Amino acid sequence: MVVDAGAVCAAPGALLLRDGAIVAAGAPSEVPRPVDALAIERDDLVVFPALVNAHCHLDLSHLGPRPFDGDFTRWIDRLRAGRAEEPDAIAEATRRGVALARAGGTALVGDIAGVGSAVPARVLRDEGLGGVSYLEVFGLGEGQERAIAALRRAAEHPTEADGVRQGLQPHAPYSCGPEVYRAAAALGRPLSTHLAETPEEEQFVRAGAGPLAEMLLRLGVWNETIPPAGRHPVDAVLEWLGGAPVLAAHANYLGPEHARRLASANASIAYCPRASAYFGHPRDGASPHQYRALIDAGVNVVLGTDSLVCLDTPDRLSVLDDMRLLYRRDGTDPRLLLRMATTAAARALGFDDAPYDLRPGPSAGILAVTVDPGARDPLAAALRSDAAPAWLLGPMPPGRGS
Ligand SMILES: [Zn+2]
Repeated sequence: MVVDAGAVCAAPGALLLRDGAIVAAGAPSEVPRPVDALAIERDDLVVFPALVNAHCHLDLSHLGPRPFDGDFTRWIDRLRAGRAEEPDAIAEATRRGVALARAGGTALVGDIAGVGSAVPARVLRDEGLGGVSYLEVFGLGEGQERAIAALRRAAEHPTEADGVRQGLQPHAPYSCGPEVYRAAAALGRPLSTHLAETPEEEQFVRAGAGPLAEMLLRLGVWNETIPPAGRHPVDAVLEWLGGAPVLAAHANYLGPEHARRLASANASIAYCPRASAYFGHPRDGASPHQYRALIDAGVNVVLGTDSLVCLDTPDRLSVLDDMRLLYRRDGTDPRLLLRMATTAAARALGFDDAPYDLRPGPSAGILAVTVDPGARDPLAAALRSDAAPAWLLGPMPPGRGS
């Protein structure tokens, strides 16, 4: 089978490549077969485009998968203690993340540079993995000034070099104040943030209370003189950004009106299903993740893995495994999932989506998963499998075709 998120869905299917670009893809009758072509015939492969991981933390890859004991603030403490902070250690962790992303069939990433370092962007360029490196900042109250200065310094770098763009990420509305979001929006770079991840986040943003208030007080980065936003995190962040498009990770806890608001704000959502499941979201009686309702409302919902710490695949970082979770748990249409993991995700990162489907032209890469030759729906069979994807072509150098 040959399949993409666009017009190609053929079983049996054929694909003609020349010089690393797609000449034709579709049913065998639609694809020419030049006499000099090297023919590879397989009846046990599902062939699809390279994947896009819209939200990951490659600089946490050295930590490996770790268990979650049910306490989010304790988890954050442990993560802070274990994270790489020196340039060499950040580079090493990010390189490991790039290798794991490649092993997962990834050709483009939205990567969070978690200690406000330019090192991950440099590693992405050196290793030839394209995407956006979102420089992450933290700042509440008086701490906003320092965060804003870091954002401005980052925005002095060229927007794009070697297929890697410089983005900005105010960490989350419980760790960044309104001025940080406003300054980030004003700088005109690709923007992302964590948003509506936990019920505790809403508690803090609405009322300046709860376990996150205690944690931030203990860390000395917040106190009760800093007023709460008094609203749901989505409403607060959308207002602070003033219409600047944002790629927001998680959105586990939304109200009924947020799909429409996110759509009219042109926001994209990076849903990280395995990370959400790892932390036990949604909990406290909240409704299941609204990704399908968000898509129906016109929000560009895409897939991310979050960090390796939350994952059950120590040997790879792949949104293919997040597609698998959603297919198995929710029975979601495999081609919709493929779109969330390829073309929609490329657009969410601000990149051209053409290299992430099978239309003629430059390709970011082609993947294959082995399935039973008799499978009735081969893409669904690839989602029932746990096999890693194999590269048939690529990964191609970033920036190609965009
Ligand atoms: Zn994250």
